[in-house]
Amino acid sequence: MYDYDLLVVGSANADLVIGVERRPAAGETVLGGDLSTHPGGKGANQAVAAARLGARTALLARVGEDGHGRLLLDSLRSAGVDPSGVLAGGAPTGVALITVDPSGDNSIVVSPGANARLTPADVRESAALLRAARVVSAQLEIPLETVVEVVRNLPSGTRFVLNPSPPRPLPAEVLAACDPLIVNEHEARVILGEDAGAEPEDWARGLLAMGPRSVVVTLGAEGALVYDGSGTARVASVKVDAVDTTGAGDAFTAALAWKLGAGASLAQAAGYAARVGAAAVTRAGAQESYPTAEEVEQL
Ligand code: ADP
Repeated sequence: MYDYDLLVVGSANADLVIGVERRPAAGETVLGGDLSTHPGGKGANQAVAAARLGARTALLARVGEDGHGRLLLDSLRSAGVDPSGVLAGGAPTGVALITVDPSGDNSIVVSPGANARLTPADVRESAALLRAARVVSAQLEIPLETVVEVVRNLPSGTRFVLNPSPPRPLPAEVLAACDPLIVNEHEARVILGEDAGAEPEDWARGLLAMGPRSVVVTLGAEGALVYDGSGTARVASVKVDAVDTTGAGDAFTAALAWKLGAGASLAQAAGYAARVGAAAVTRAGAQESYPTAEEVEQL
């Protein structure tokens, strides 16, 4: 028996957001509105999304010994995430400094901080967590060598799900472990390079040829595409009034990983994940926007 339906290995950031009339040019100072501070980072987002749905979830991450770290731990705990794998110290908590203008365009500076100090040694020392999880998911806001170490330490039979964001070329041993690799259009194009092709079907086929056991391409309001080698299948989106798409991909990935672990097929799991993603875009924010299983049912 597994203690956790899902172990997320990834980042935890504080998102510091200021609304501005105009984003500043070099050397310029502009006045903005009040600062708002939100728990974020792809790893913490995924963990909160899964736990809100009812998955028994743990997070392996690193935060600083500071107020932002405490904000993140509070958010994880109140969603029901087991925070025992959240290590503290080594650097300040990761931060994203975000300015947003009235049209919704933003400029973002990310300081990875403690996320950059989540090391392969931290993964080895968390072997018990890895053994306790049915599914392990990761993203790329932590060092790539840490993700490589996760793959090397996966117990046989444990499913691995990767959202390669922010995208970069991936080593063959990481690609071979993914079941599935989950990408949006931008991530697909970066990983595939110049020969990406024009259509989501091209990206899915191209990515599968690089080694993962299955591929999911998310397409925003268009839903998603799944491909496991036996053929591609489109997954419809749910029509909703989108308010804020921040963190939709993280909610989608978490829901998909959880459902796969519970025995769903890739297409079934993606269908459920599309409902979770759609619910998440109907509310502002990332972690604050994630639905419970009941809210997904009611959609
Ligand atoms: P990312 O945030 O990584 O770019 P997407 O924007 O593709 O990911 O969103 C992930 C998933 O969330 C989509 O596959 C879809 O199921 C759902 N989703 C996103 N935006 C919308 C929307 N406007 N309406 C309905 N569903 C959406």
